[in-house]
Amino acid sequence: MIPFFIQKLFYYTWWKGRMKMCGCLFCKIAAREIATNFLYEDDLCLVFEDIHPQAPIHLLVIPKKHLTSLNDAEEEDRNLLGHLLGVAARMAKEKKIDGSGYRTIINTNAEAGQTVFHLHIHILGGRRLGWPPG
Ligand code: 5GP
Ligand code: ZN
Repeated sequence: MIPFFIQKLFYYTWWKGRMKMCGCLFCKIAAREIATNFLYEDDLCLVFEDIHPQAPIHLLVIPKKHLTSLNDAEEEDRNLLGHLLGVAARMAKEKKIDGSGYRTIINTNAEAGQTVFHLHIHILGGRRLGWPPG
């Protein structure tokens, strides 16, 4: 039987390796290869401020697991997706935009404006947001 901490170490090394191999920007952020101020972290996800904010509050919630887009999410990711939305709601509360209102957005592929191909949820708030979106 392999001791628990050795298992953890193997998993961590494997995970870091996977992140490096894929060359994905958000995987690099998750692997701490790009300095980023995290507002929240747990086993499954991370939250940080968007580098080009489109509203006074503009956060990104990303899963630690690399999924290229929502199209990549499978049945086994159902709990993860629910978790990401729950964290988004918690962050909105923390930023005190839950009452005034905020928008959660997942851009998927080119026509929706996806530029980083690692699934993420935008949280936008702190101003009135137009509808329909551009
Ligand atoms: P998308 O256009 O794919 O829906 O959203 C990607 C978001 O990632 C954009 O809003 C963009 O400003 C943000 N972004 C791109 N590169 C970085 C980065 O290096 N750091 C952070 N914090 N945000 C980034
Ligand atoms: Zn990635």
